[in-house]
Amino acid sequence: MIFKTKRVLIVASMTFVAVMLYQWGHLDGREGKMSGLIGESIAAENPLKMSPVKARARDFYAPNSEDLRPDEMRLIACGTGMPTARPKQAASCWLLELGNGDKFIFDIGTGSAERISAMQIPYNYLDKVFLSHLHTDHFGDLDALFVGGALAGRQKPLRVWGPSGGTPERGTKYAMDHLRKALTWDLDGRMGLTDPRGYHIEPHEFDYKGMNQIVYQENGVTIRSFPAIHSLDGPVSFSVEWNGLKFVFGGDTFPNKWYDEYAKGADLAIHECFIAVPDLITKFKFTPQSALAVGTQIHTAPEAFGKVMSRIKPRMAVAYHFFKDFDTTGSIYERIRTTYDGPLSLAEDYMVWNITKDDIRVRLAVVDEDVWPPPATEKPQLPDPSIRIPYSDMISGGKLDVKDVIQPIYDEINKKYKLNEKQE
Ligand SMILES: [Zn+2]
Ligand SMILES: [Zn+2]
Repeated sequence: MIFKTKRVLIVASMTFVAVMLYQWGHLDGREGKMSGLIGESIAAENPLKMSPVKARARDFYAPNSEDLRPDEMRLIACGTGMPTARPKQAASCWLLELGNGDKFIFDIGTGSAERISAMQIPYNYLDKVFLSHLHTDHFGDLDALFVGGALAGRQKPLRVWGPSGGTPERGTKYAMDHLRKALTWDLDGRMGLTDPRGYHIEPHEFDYKGMNQIVYQENGVTIRSFPAIHSLDGPVSFSVEWNGLKFVFGGDTFPNKWYDEYAKGADLAIHECFIAVPDLITKFKFTPQSALAVGTQIHTAPEAFGKVMSRIKPRMAVAYHFFKDFDTTGSIYERIRTTYDGPLSLAEDYMVWNITKDDIRVRLAVVDEDVWPPPATEKPQLPDPSIRIPYSDMISGGKLDVKDVIQPIYDEINKKYKLNEKQE
């Protein structure tokens, strides 16, 4: 009996030591890859001797708190859901940041501009958008970035790359020209009041039929497009190659041979994975007929997503375009796992991937809801007040006289900033 107890104790203590050694090695290995993080200074220390006063390394991503290494990509999901945006999920939007300083937005679906703002990136850096197709869940917040970004420090045109369509009216250039027209009242009212340089859209339309064609090549970054099969002729997918890393963003599509060919071996490959058909019927209230048509023919069913990923074998497969809830995630996961057993992220808003040649780290961002726009990166250009469009006499004649309470505001600001501004 005594012998037995002793043996149990020996086994228990050996197990404890093994677990401690494992954890030590594990933590050490993990934290060794976290460059520029708060708490890095203690990463090399024995984690069993944690400081009661120094910060520890974080398991989440806090915007504007981590340097990006020169060899590193950071991808942030700013929208992963459906055309009907909801508090938990905006529609498709992916922010890619590269260690060379470049930043690209892939899709900007409804509700996603708010998520982009949470990343606290100066708007002058957010001037390049690539659209996979012209469904609103993939470009419905472009107006918000266009106007809101210009107002908050983008002092240059918003550049928008997107595909042609089966007719000129279904192409990106037509959509951008008419979006600009739809905003005539908004933009006319800003003339003469703010820095005018950001209030232009620069469309770059390319042929949707192009096969792995280069649509952008600057600063060591090559972006290519290839066709997708979805709704009408026109949708595309994109690949980004930079510094030996390859990122692929699949727009909405039925599984297609071009993604199969051009996404092969990607470091990170995003592909749509639609709400499972039974959930489309019971939770989204689709009829069985339209659930089958939309969930398996216009889009990619989870089982088909798995088949695509089994063929292209990325270092990380990313599934999106479903409502990710406690009662849908398990079924999506199980369905994908019938056809794919490799690395997998079921995307949700604010998921973050740090990608290097040796590691892909997946976390969630914790964001500050009170965040304001970051400072402009360049000095603003003063507007020309003479180009302001005046009110009609009828409207300006309706102004109440509040000069007496406004004058102290002018006095305060003129004094503080050494100006001599006068009320209108
Ligand atoms: Zn679509
Ligand atoms: Zn979509």
